[in-house]
Order: sequence, then structure tokens, then C-alpha cells
Amino acid sequence: MEDLSILSAEEMTGLNYMCTCGKNHSVGIETIKVGQGVITGLPTVIKSYEGEKVFIIEDTHTLSVAGKKVEELLKEKFKVSKFVFNEEHLHPNEATLGRLLLEIPGDTSLIIAVGSGTINDISRFLSCKLRIPYVIVGTAPSMDGYASVVSPLICDSVKVTYDGVYPLAIVCDSDIMKDAPMLMIQAGLGDILGKYTALADWHIANILNGEYFCPEVEKLVLTTLKKCEEAAAGVKSRDAKTVENITDALILSGIAIGMVGASRPASGGEHYISHCYEMMFLNSSEDVQWLHGNTVGVGVGVVAYAFKYAKDLDINEILTKGDYAHLDKNKWKQNITDVFTVSATNIIEFKQDSINFNEEERKASINKIVSNWDVIKEICDVNVPEPEEIIKTLKKAGAVWNPKELGLDKELFRKSFIAAKDMRNRYGILQLLEDIGMLDEAANYITNIYYK
Ligand SMILES: [Zn+2]
Ligand SMILES: [Zn+2]
Repeated sequence: MEDLSILSAEEMTGLNYMCTCGKNHSVGIETIKVGQGVITGLPTVIKSYEGEKVFIIEDTHTLSVAGKKVEELLKEKFKVSKFVFNEEHLHPNEATLGRLLLEIPGDTSLIIAVGSGTINDISRFLSCKLRIPYVIVGTAPSMDGYASVVSPLICDSVKVTYDGVYPLAIVCDSDIMKDAPMLMIQAGLGDILGKYTALADWHIANILNGEYFCPEVEKLVLTTLKKCEEAAAGVKSRDAKTVENITDALILSGIAIGMVGASRPASGGEHYISHCYEMMFLNSSEDVQWLHGNTVGVGVGVVAYAFKYAKDLDINEILTKGDYAHLDKNKWKQNITDVFTVSATNIIEFKQDSINFNEEERKASINKIVSNWDVIKEICDVNVPEPEEIIKTLKKAGAVWNPKELGLDKELFRKSFIAAKDMRNRYGILQLLEDIGMLDEAANYITNIYYK
């Protein structure tokens, strides 16, 4: 088996092999093109559809940056039709999908999505439902969903993840992507940096709960992540190579999720923090400019501090003191209510049965942690960079790094750190800190760093 970590996203297409982790890893994407000028290769990529109907999905913005070029390239040999969304903020909801069903011509052989987040998500879903393959022509390196197999959509005003399909091909021209709004490029970098803490959380879940883990996928993600980190200084100048590295890493991150069949290699505590902020913004109904990757970037610094805090703890002293044994349910509920306001009831309902309030069970779980403490400390130490380094990288790219900039006041930041993990049911450093009764203290420690 060749070393996965030296492969670019382009070289991973068609991969299918039995891994040392015991799982068969496969990548069901035929073609991936990342680089300067690659858009001109689109007619060759979809050559087998010559003479057939292709349907382009885009919005007014992506039409002008890439859609026109796509049409020009395809009009001679393909029967091209299109639908252009006019909305300033397109939502992946029932209305958007309904509109596409009305517009897509019968006998369409291929869908071509021109855009990033929402356009990609709705095109993937449509492709899956209608059984018509789709190609994504990326316009911004803002998120890791290009190579994803699921579509997060909004149904009845609630975000739900639906099944989708891999795109037939991904075409990301860095000459187009480098001119994306700066916030989107910074978001891409933020989402990538998040893989540090995501991978460390995955390790911890493997050690303490025996959760499936693949070291080869970890190595693959880490290698591309380091390339991005080194290139961060090129973000502000829109350096084409930097944008290419970020795009490559975002596509590989999607591929890694597909390879292990779970989002573990791409999403951990930093994503719960990010989801928590996103939900707070939604509840406050203020118009917020931040994208998913921007809040993930802030979250990865915060969670890196959590790892740093954990590794310096004296676990035996905590065990002897015994404070960990009692978790106050009312206090837990109140904190969630303060952070999530109108959505709090849903979160409490979702999480309360899996939170451990029982003293005997809490003793059993801390004992497990104590007996694995050396390995956990090593993960905190070796796998997660110093938080200051992560913040430095974000600053180099001109990206948001401080929760204050997101509009969170000191008290709300502290409470959100405690509540964030309750949005999901997955183990990681934040849950570990709660298990040993140190989550509140960690929250104070981190709050005093960001809000000194
Ligand atoms: Zn594996
Ligand atoms: Zn993400």
C-alpha cells in the first residue's frame, strides 16, 4: 500500500483498498482537478456526456465569476440550460429545492453546480434524488463539503443532514477561487485548522471508549493540514498556491470523512463550539457576517487551550479530592438555558439521558480516565499545537481569532464553553473535562485568557 499522506486530492480518485485499520477505504469520485486554469479542462472531464443535456445550477454571483465561462466552454458540444438564483442569501430549504425541480429539463443527463456551500449542497441532494450525476465547479475555498456524501439542508426551519452522493467530478480553478471574498478564504483555513483538535478528540474517544480509529487517515489529514498552516501567510495576498493548498486540504477532508464513514477526522470540540456560536447568532436574529469556518477558527484556539489546561492537571489529586463525583443537574440545565435561550429545551431533552449524574458511574468513568492518563496527556501534548501557535496562524491570515470579535461578552463566552459539547453526543476533551469535574475551572481559565 502506498503512503496516502503524499497523495494530493487529485491522486486519490478511484482509491479502493483494505486498510490496516480493518476497514475498506474507497473514494468514489472519478475526477478531481485543483489548480490554475483547470476550468478549461471541464469539457474533457465530462466528455462522455457530449451531445446530451446538461443543467447548470448557480447564483448571480457565481454566474459572473465562473458560470459564464462554463457556458462558453460547453455550448458547442453540449445542450446547455441553466437556472440562476437571484437571492442574496440562498438557503438550502424546501423552496430552493422545489424551484430546481420546476426548472430542471426532462432528460437531463448531468447537473453542473457552480458555487460553494449552498449551491453544492442542494445540487448534491437533487443529484441523489433524481439519480442524475453532478459535477461541482468550485468558486470559493470556504468549506470542506465539496467531496462530502451528505447534504445539510433546512426542513421546517431545522437543519437536517440528508443523504447525498459523491460528485462525479470536482473542478476547482485557483484563478477563480483566489478572488473569492476574503472572509470565505479565511473560513476555509479556519475549518482546516480545526482538524488538529478534531483528530485529538477522535484519539481520546478511541482510547477511552474503543471507538474506531484509523491512523492512516489521521496521517493523511495531518499532512495536508500542515501544508495549509505553512501557507497561511499567503491568504491576505490571495496567493494562488496558498488557495490551492487550502482547497486541496478541504477536498481531502471530505474524502477522509467518506473513507471512515464518519465525520470524526474533520469535526470535534472546535465544531461544537462553532455550532454553539452559530445557534446563538440564529437565536439573536442579528444579521451576522461570519461563516462556519470563521467560527471554527475561533473554536480551535479555544479547544486547544482546553487541551493545554488538561495536560497540566494533577489527575490523582482530582481523584482524591472527589469533587468530580457530583454534577448538579439544575446548574447544568440553567447554563444551557442561558446560552441557547429558545432552543434550550430541545438541547436539554436531547442530551439529559446521556449525561452522567450518577455518582457511582462518575467514579467508574474517572477511574478509566486515570488509568489511561499518560496516553491522554501525550495526546494533549503531541497532537495539539500550542494555542498561541494556532492564534498566530489565524492572525497571519487576517482571520478572526477572538470570541470578543464575534460579539460574545465575557460571561456568555464562559457559559458557551461549558454548554457547547451538549449539542452533540460525541466524546472528546470537553466531555472528559466534565467527567473529571473540571469543566467549570477550565472555562474560567480560558475566559481569563481571552478576556483579560
Ligand atoms: Zn484505515
Ligand atoms: Zn467544518
